[in-house]
Amino acid sequence: MSVYTRIASGLLFPVHERLKGHDSVRRLKVLEETQWWSRERIEALQLENLRLFLADIEVHVPYYKKLFSEHGFKSSELRSIKDIRSIPFLTKSLIKTAGQGMMSSDAGPVTRYNTGGSGGEPLIFYIGKDRKSHDVAAKWRATRWWDVDIGDPEIVLWGSPIELGGQDRVKMVRDRILRSWLLPAFEMSEAKVLKMLKSITSLRPKMLFGYPSALAHIADVAASHGIRLDNLGIKVAFVTSERLYEHQREAIVKAFNCPVANGYGARDAGFLAHECPAGNLHLTAEDILLETVDENGLATEPGIPGEIVVTHMASRDFPFLRYRTGDVGLLSDEQCSCGRGLPLLKEVQGRTTDFIVAEDGTVMHGLALVYTARDIPGVRKFKIIQHSLKRTELMIVCGDGYEKDTAEARIRKDYRGRLGQGVEIEITYCDGIPLEKSGKFRYVVSHVSPARG
Ligand SMILES: [Zn+2]
Repeated sequence: MSVYTRIASGLLFPVHERLKGHDSVRRLKVLEETQWWSRERIEALQLENLRLFLADIEVHVPYYKKLFSEHGFKSSELRSIKDIRSIPFLTKSLIKTAGQGMMSSDAGPVTRYNTGGSGGEPLIFYIGKDRKSHDVAAKWRATRWWDVDIGDPEIVLWGSPIELGGQDRVKMVRDRILRSWLLPAFEMSEAKVLKMLKSITSLRPKMLFGYPSALAHIADVAASHGIRLDNLGIKVAFVTSERLYEHQREAIVKAFNCPVANGYGARDAGFLAHECPAGNLHLTAEDILLETVDENGLATEPGIPGEIVVTHMASRDFPFLRYRTGDVGLLSDEQCSCGRGLPLLKEVQGRTTDFIVAEDGTVMHGLALVYTARDIPGVRKFKIIQHSLKRTELMIVCGDGYEKDTAEARIRKDYRGRLGQGVEIEITYCDGIPLEKSGKFRYVVSHVSPARG
């Protein structure tokens, strides 16, 4: 670790956090220890944290005061973590309806967030300092798993124009001090990417942070222009916010000559899980309870996919308790070889909208359709849009080697085989595929919602 990084992570960032009223430095110290605890000890800690959290919101949060009494739920009667299954789920629309009733009567200073978001309903929610400290500390801990630290030169490729708008002077100064450079990733034209490549090769960051689609795209452009990125000394590429596809991981590893570390989290749900160098996603179990539930809202066993439901135990100012994320994933009861006792999330398969519904109602991940499209020679880029049960569109950007007739025949045959023989497969051609407003890229978008029980 360089002297500068040592000063940044040991002094400058801690001062910054103190000025913001965060106790993330103290939190990090705790998390650095608890990650090595045994599974049993971590579960005992979770139960204790859960009790404190529920007892607190039962008294201070009008929404929960009412909900608990309606359902006869008493935090003092909580015996095991599973007991929270009797508390109804929290959804985006419930948060909207509850409004200020979600806020703790003795909340500290909070920051307002508005996730305009693509696809999902907009959501206004608040984050207090306690929760912020916890999320910062959890991210910091996961960063250090990869032999890098706050203060190491970093390039952040981030999309959301909204967040960039909030990029005020103070943040810019902080980023300079912490040697973090932001490159806006919501417009990824070739000319823009070539400019980004110039920044990357001249700044020689130790770490990259961004959407997997953005980093994989940069890797592609670099390869096609013969620009080398494998000799810059980059130690790790952190990716988050989208499903990480295996081919993207391979492209990033090859281009930057560094491992890819996948993270899973969101502004609303928190810093949920992060990959360790042994290749597993560890949950931030000290603060987070993560359940997976089936279409009837019942818990699924480890290894069985279900919608991810999150309880953030440091969210007392504006609680997220059994919050339905709309993501689909599966838990694992295995132990990681890295020695950390933090439980594992086996996989995050994507948003519920990454799933496609066949004519007969079968729900499947769009992955099957993704891989067919990827296999067709000459397909450079593509996107699958399920408009209705009867019509699915495949947008294609094609290049050399693309043979229209054979390609279309193969696509239609394969897609109908999966979606149903009566489904219209529309194939359209374009010069480029627009990104989502946030700058994210999605291979699959379905406007058909699976029938819910
Ligand atoms: Zn591990």
